[in-house]
Amino acid sequence: AGQSWTTDVIIIGAGPVGLFSVFELGLLDIKAHLVDILDKPGGQCAELYPEKPIYDIPAWPIISGSDLTDRLLEQIAPFGAKYHFNEMAVAIEKVEQDDGTIKWKLTTDQGTTIEARCIIIAAGGGSFQPKKPPIPGIDGFENLGAGKGVHYAVRKMEAFRGKRIVISGGGDSALDWTVNLANVAERITLVHRRDDFRAAPHTVAQMRQLVADGKMDLVIGQATALKGETGHNLEAITIEDNDGNELHIDADAFLPFFGLTMKLGPVAEFGLNLHENLIPVDTEKFETSTKQVFAIGDINYYPGKLKLILSGFHEAALMSQQAFRYVYPEKKLRFQYTTSSSELQKKMGVK
Ligand code: FAD
Repeated sequence: AGQSWTTDVIIIGAGPVGLFSVFELGLLDIKAHLVDILDKPGGQCAELYPEKPIYDIPAWPIISGSDLTDRLLEQIAPFGAKYHFNEMAVAIEKVEQDDGTIKWKLTTDQGTTIEARCIIIAAGGGSFQPKKPPIPGIDGFENLGAGKGVHYAVRKMEAFRGKRIVISGGGDSALDWTVNLANVAERITLVHRRDDFRAAPHTVAQMRQLVADGKMDLVIGQATALKGETGHNLEAITIEDNDGNELHIDADAFLPFFGLTMKLGPVAEFGLNLHENLIPVDTEKFETSTKQVFAIGDINYYPGKLKLILSGFHEAALMSQQAFRYVYPEKKLRFQYTTSSSELQKKMGVK
C-alpha cells in the first residue's frame, strides 16, 4: 500500500493553472499537494510545446512553455507544495468528520491516499496520451532514455544531436520536428502514408527544400516493425511502401507523431456533473456542484469560458478565496496586496 498524507487542499494536475494555485493558496496559508500522471510539472506547456513561444501571458511578450513552467516553479517555491508525480488520481471519496464537517480523500493508482478539506481539479485536457502506431512490440522500445528508442514528444532537442532519426506523421508536430531537428540530427527520415501533408504549408515547403538539398529523406509508406534489443536499444525501422516493398532504415530513435487522445480519464468517474467532458463551475468561486470540490483551468466549463492560461490564473485566485473559508472557517479573510503587505511578503520569503 502507498503512503497516507493529510494536507489542506489537493490539486489534481500540475499544469500551469495547478501550479499557480499553489501561489494564491499559499498567500492565504493554505498548504497543497499536487498529483500528476506526468513525470514533471507544466502540463501541456511542458509535455506538448516546451520550446514553442507563448505570446499572451501578461507582461511576458514572449515565453516558451518550459520557461513559463520554470518561472511558475520559482514563484511558488516559498510555499513548499508536495508533488506526487507519475501518479494518476483515480478516485475521490467524501469523509464525514466527527464535528459534521467534510473532508475529501483522494486515492492514486500507486495506492497513495491524501486527505484534505478541498479538492482542486486542474486536470486540463485530462490525462492525455499519445496515439501509438500499430507496430508490434513498440512498448519495448519506449523509455530507453534521452535520444534513444521511441519518443512521442521532443523534450530536449539536444538529446537528438548526432542521432539517426525516423519521424512518422503528416501533421504539424511531425513536420515541425522534422524541420527543427534537421540541423541537429545526423540524419532524418520522414515517413508518411501519402505524399500529402496536413501541416502548415510553409513548414511543408521547408521540408521539401531539405529533401531537395539532400539534407534529409522522405519515404512514402508506413513503419511496420522495429528492430533491435527490446528494452535496450533500437537499431532499425522497417518501412513498407505503398507497393508492399520493404525498406530497412538504421535508426537510433523513432518519433511517431500521430496526435494525442485527450481523455478525461478517471476524473469522469468522480461522480461530478459533466458538460461535454468538462466540469461546470460557478464563476464566483469556481466550485463544482459538489461542495469543496473545485475545477479550474482547461477542465472547467462556464458561459464565456476561454481555454487560456491567463483565464486559469484568474480562476485560481478566486477559487483560493473560497477554499480559505473551508480550510479556516473561523478566520476572517482580509484582502491584501503583495506590494504593500509585509505579512504576505514574509510568506513569500521577501527579504
Ligand atoms: P494542463 O496544462 O492540461 O495540465 C493538466 C495536468 O493534469 C496534466 O499534466 C495532466 O497529466 C494532469 N492530469 C489530468 N488528469 C489527471 C489525473 N486523473 N491524475 C493525475 N494527473 C492528471 N494557452 C495560452 O494561454 N496561450 C497560448 O499561446 C497557448 N498555446 C498553446 C499551444 C499548444 C500547442 C497547446 C496544446 C496549447 C496551448 N495553449 C495556450 C493552451 C494551454 O496550454 C492550456 O490552456 C493550459 O495548459 C491549461 O492549463 P491547465 O493547468 O488547466 O491544464
